[in-house]
Amino acid sequence: MRILHAAAEIHPVVRTGGLGDVVAALPAAQQTFGHDVRLILPAYPALKAALEKSVVVAMLRDRFDAPVIRLLRGRLISSGLIAYLIDAPSLFDRPGNPYLGLDGRDWPDNAQRFGLLGWAAAALACGQLDVEWHAEALHAHDWHAGLAPAYLRLAGDASVTSVFTIHNIAYQGLFSPAMLGPLELPAELFTIGGLEFWNQISFMKAGLVFGDRITTVSPGYAREIATPDYGCGLDGVIAARDGAVFGILNGVDSSQWDPTNDPVLEARFDANHLEARLANRDSLLRRFGLQPADGPLYGVVSRLTPQKGLDLVHRALPVLLETGGSLVLLGSGDAPLEVAFRAAAKEHPDRVAVVIGYDDSLSHGIMAGSDVVLVPSRFEPCGLTQLYALRYGAVPVVRRTGGLGDTVVDASPGALQNHTATGIVFEAATVDAVREALRRVTALYRDRDVWRSLQQTGMLQIFSWETAALQYIALYSLAG
Ligand code: ADP
Repeated sequence: MRILHAAAEIHPVVRTGGLGDVVAALPAAQQTFGHDVRLILPAYPALKAALEKSVVVAMLRDRFDAPVIRLLRGRLISSGLIAYLIDAPSLFDRPGNPYLGLDGRDWPDNAQRFGLLGWAAAALACGQLDVEWHAEALHAHDWHAGLAPAYLRLAGDASVTSVFTIHNIAYQGLFSPAMLGPLELPAELFTIGGLEFWNQISFMKAGLVFGDRITTVSPGYAREIATPDYGCGLDGVIAARDGAVFGILNGVDSSQWDPTNDPVLEARFDANHLEARLANRDSLLRRFGLQPADGPLYGVVSRLTPQKGLDLVHRALPVLLETGGSLVLLGSGDAPLEVAFRAAAKEHPDRVAVVIGYDDSLSHGIMAGSDVVLVPSRFEPCGLTQLYALRYGAVPVVRRTGGLGDTVVDASPGALQNHTATGIVFEAATVDAVREALRRVTALYRDRDVWRSLQQTGMLQIFSWETAALQYIALYSLAG
């Protein structure tokens, strides 16, 4: 099958979160089953540098406010996958973050930038841009590629099936209706049954309305976003597409996340050699000058936004410390939370370490060296950090929401007894619930046999990209 993935980021070159991990791992997994899988992405400078054997397959002028647009085709050095890059220097030749300017605000022309991504993806899929290739399935990821199914519908090519995947419904890509012209969208689409959302153009809604099928990254989140509490205003649209909405869990990319073969770790280990894991714990403690008490070492690797619930952890810090815990946090995001955690590290230098920033290898070190990884999200489409924690023998403590509830089994007496427990799952997004979870952790941690069993059961869980890849392929082929 000829499959085209359209997205705004890809690990390891341009990545701000889980989306980039998925866009790297899923196409690669699909290709191992013999499919012709390609990607289309914006030609940010870093991606252009990561493309080899590049040729120009199409040339356009004066579209989407860009004077010149070239479509490049080459191979990504990191994976060998064929990628098309949309080389529109006036839109994409900029430093830094794919979505935000240096002032931390959205790039003012994000409508044109990602509108062009959706348009080029649809045109390529139906054979209008590369004379040598067209797609049978167009898989668009998140709002950045949300217009692709709409352009495909406008092109009227029913031979291409479109799948739109929601990685996070909280980010929707809303723009003024004045952009309809530059986006080459007819006014007929700007209706409540189309891509209009409270008098704005919604890229996310376009994907939801015009995608042949909708997926999101866990069954739990698929259920949640059909409700007002989690749907961010689009729950009605999701509910109306009932029957076309599927939840497919993300996997763990074993080429990046394997504790038996991870070059950045102090020591490699597996479920039968957990004692070897301790060298990673010691290395973390040494690196940050921590002198822990007798409780667990907690780790956090996260964006610091309200979604992730780390304000609750900050407020529960006194209990974490009273119960003998220590904390290593790696993250970046909202300034007040960064300031609050930095202050906590200053106040408790031997028990709390905080690194504000983005650091791939430290994130591996935290998974391998912490006893516990905290993921107390208010909502979580899938969540990858708890999957990495499980793989690396750190016990995840998560709130029961979205993919967190789907992937972690709470250490209830029954689940402990039959060795299915893999972590601690709490219900409410409150400080009290986090405090209670920390107390439960402390009690479980004291019983070395119980703790080892939690770690080992977690490490044996399989979250495979191969499984997800086959599920998506089945969906592309589904009739109707
Ligand atoms: P989200 O996509 O909402 O940020 P996920 O759990 O799905 O959350 O994916 C987050 C990804 O980003 C994981 O691979 C995680 O390890 C990584 N990550 C998040 N923050 C950092 C950071 N500060 N440094 C390194 N990696 C990070």
